[in-house]
Amino acid sequence: MHVLILGGTTEARRLAELLHGTPGLVVTTSLAGRVASPRLPPGEVRVGGFGGAEALTAWLRERRVGVVVDATHPFAGTMSRHAARAAATARVPLLALRRPGWRPGEGDDWHGAGSAEEAAALLPALGRRVFLTTGRMGLAAFAELDDLWFLVRSVDPPEGPCPARARILLDRGPFTLDGERELLRRHGVDVLVTKDSGGAATAPKLTAAREAGLPVVVIRRPAPPEGVPVTPTPEGAAQWVTEQRGRGPAR
Ligand code: NAP
Repeated sequence: MHVLILGGTTEARRLAELLHGTPGLVVTTSLAGRVASPRLPPGEVRVGGFGGAEALTAWLRERRVGVVVDATHPFAGTMSRHAARAAATARVPLLALRRPGWRPGEGDDWHGAGSAEEAAALLPALGRRVFLTTGRMGLAAFAELDDLWFLVRSVDPPEGPCPARARILLDRGPFTLDGERELLRRHGVDVLVTKDSGGAATAPKLTAAREAGLPVVVIRRPAPPEGVPVTPTPEGAAQWVTEQRGRGPAR
C-alpha cells in the first residue's frame, strides 16, 4: 500500500520513521519546499506543490495511493483543504495528524488574535520591543508598525515586506528554556507574538515569557477541514495506517 504523508513537521518525520520498513508499505513524504535544507524523513521524498487540489487528485490516482496522512503544520490551511478535497474525490482515506494547541497556565497573560493582522493591531497597546516568532511568511502584517522594534526569528531569511526596525535571527527549534530566557533579557523584549503551533520544540518561549511577566499574543489556528478524522500523535497515525492496510488502491 502506498502511503502519502503531507509533511513539513516533526510529527510527519516521526510518522515516516515509524512506518519505514514495514513490509507491504511504500511511504512517500511530500514537502512544500519552503525550507532551504529540510530535515529529511526516511522513505521516498517529493518536494514542491502539486498544483492545486485537482492535480493532487490526479497524483493520488496515478501513484495508486492507498491512504493519505495530512501531517502538515496546523497553520498550513490551504494544503489541508486541498488534501480533504482531493482525498474525497479520489476516494482515498485521509487522516489529519495534528499536535494539540497550547493552553494558557496560571500566570500567563495571553491575548488571542484571529490573524497576523489582528495580532499587529494589538501590539502597540502591549509593548515596544517585540519577539516575533510567526515565521518568515506573513511579516507584512507587522511592516507598518514603525514605532516598535522587532526581534524576528525564522528558519530561513524573511522575504517581502518586513518591519523597518527589525533584527533577524535565523534559527530552528527545538529551543531551550535557558536560551529563550537569555534572548528575552538580552534584547529587552516586552511582548511575544506566536502562532498556536503547539508541541514541545518551541514551547519554552511561553514559559520564559510567563516567568518574565510578559504579555503574549497568540494567533489562533485555522479551523481544520470538516469531516476529516484527527489524531494528535504519530503513533496514533501509524496505528490508523496499519488498520487501513488491505484496502485497494485509489480508483
Ligand atoms: P499552505 O499555505 O497551506 O499551502 C500553500 C501551498 O503550498 C499548497 O497549496 C501546496 O501547493 C503547497 N504545499 C503546502 N504543503 C505542502 C506539502 N507538504 N507538500 C506539497 N505541497 C505543499 O502551506 P504553508 O503554511 O505555506 O506551509 C508549507 C509547508 O511548511 C507545509 O509543509 C507545512 O507543514 C510547513 N510548515 C508550515 C508552517 C506554518 O506556520 N504555516 C510552520 C512550519 C512548517 P499546491 O497547491 O501547488 O499543491
